Amino acid sequence: MVKDFLIIGQGIAGSALAYKLMKAGKSVLVIDNEPPSTSSRVAAGLFNPIVFKRITLGWRAIEAINELTNFYKEVEKETSALFFHPQQMFRIHGSEGESNSWEHMKSQKPFDNFLGSSELTSKRPFFYQSFGSALVNNAGNVNAKVYVESIKNWLTRRDAYKIATFDYNELTLKNDSVSWNGIEAEKIIFCEGYKAESNPFFNYLPFNTAKGEELIIECKDIAQELFNGSIYGVPMGNGIFKIGSTFAWSQVDEFTTKAAREEIEGKFKKISNASYKILGQNAGIRPAVKDRRPFVGMHPKHKQMGIFNGMGTKGISLSPLLANEFVAHLIDNSPLNEECDIKRYEKNLVVL
Ligand SMILES: Cc1cc2nc3c(=O)[nH]c(=O)nc-3n(C[C@H](O)[C@H](O)[C@H](O)COP(=O)(O)OP(=O)(O)OC[C@H]3O[C@@H](n4cnc5c(N)ncnc54)[C@H](O)[C@@H]3O)c2cc1C
Repeated sequence: MVKDFLIIGQGIAGSALAYKLMKAGKSVLVIDNEPPSTSSRVAAGLFNPIVFKRITLGWRAIEAINELTNFYKEVEKETSALFFHPQQMFRIHGSEGESNSWEHMKSQKPFDNFLGSSELTSKRPFFYQSFGSALVNNAGNVNAKVYVESIKNWLTRRDAYKIATFDYNELTLKNDSVSWNGIEAEKIIFCEGYKAESNPFFNYLPFNTAKGEELIIECKDIAQELFNGSIYGVPMGNGIFKIGSTFAWSQVDEFTTKAAREEIEGKFKKISNASYKILGQNAGIRPAVKDRRPFVGMHPKHKQMGIFNGMGTKGISLSPLLANEFVAHLIDNSPLNEECDIKRYEKNLVVL
């Protein structure tokens, strides 16, 4: 089998990249070993342009929101699936400072597009709102599990998906191509999420992987809307919410813990007196990065090998934008955004 691109990993990152490469006319084969739990399959799928504590915009937030809106709408249409839910997010202010900054910034450009007016606290009696609350515009969520599954089916129908575990020792590097298990490809792009820490070609990149846990609760008291206070809540339909999440940098594994359940419950009780029932708990490992910027680009020594990773807590919002830029780089050699180009870590690569 001969392909233009071999992509390792079909999480949120590999999905966006594979889709965009194929739409650009390239042939692709995506390999994934489908473990029971991955970061992409448990992700709450939120996108939100605002960093709340300082009331500022997230990194490249406006570009990311514009791109993700077009992208997920297009993929929904293409796959006949429903997973994209743009909607306002109810924000419970965390301090007087936050509430004052919000009031001050909400009429200023470009914040006027994102910061809504204060909400009447009486409107949501099951939330404590000592410092007030407001709505965030241009936020929303993607049902990441449905999205990834839809892309998998779309790829499968095009002979572009294979369930397999990629073993780095089985990769043969040729002058201008690679071969793996009888598959020849011009380029291989690694999208293995946190597993890239043990990728012998890219383990020089400073990952800072963070375990995250969330609860699935049934709560009929509160409206089916996105909320965000000391924790987030994402409506899943029929009174079900994903609430979370935790961050842990030690004991990074995919097992759920009692400590995380207690932490999330404690935080929920701080913002709400609604009654709820716990239906489940998930854990995943985020491919976070020390400088909080993704890893995009080609290996400095092996030009037929690249990486698309390091999305951290923002895979849903950043992957469509960065996949666009990476595809343009791969096809037309357009320059990458310097902040996420892996060139910034070339000095870490010790060539023996
Ligand atoms: C609890 C929690 C909540 C989150 N909430 C949000 C949120 O609200 N919004 C948001 O944007 N992000 C959220 N995230 C972060 C988000 O999940 C990540 O940014 C994103 O999933 C990373 O995607 P990825 O494709 O890089 O990695 P992964 O999801 O880890 O995907 C990598 C894929 O590669 C495959 N793979 C790896 N190695 C191999 C191999 N050798 N052979 C074959 N296949 C392989 C894996 O099976 C996997 O399918 C959350 C994360 C967690 C844990």
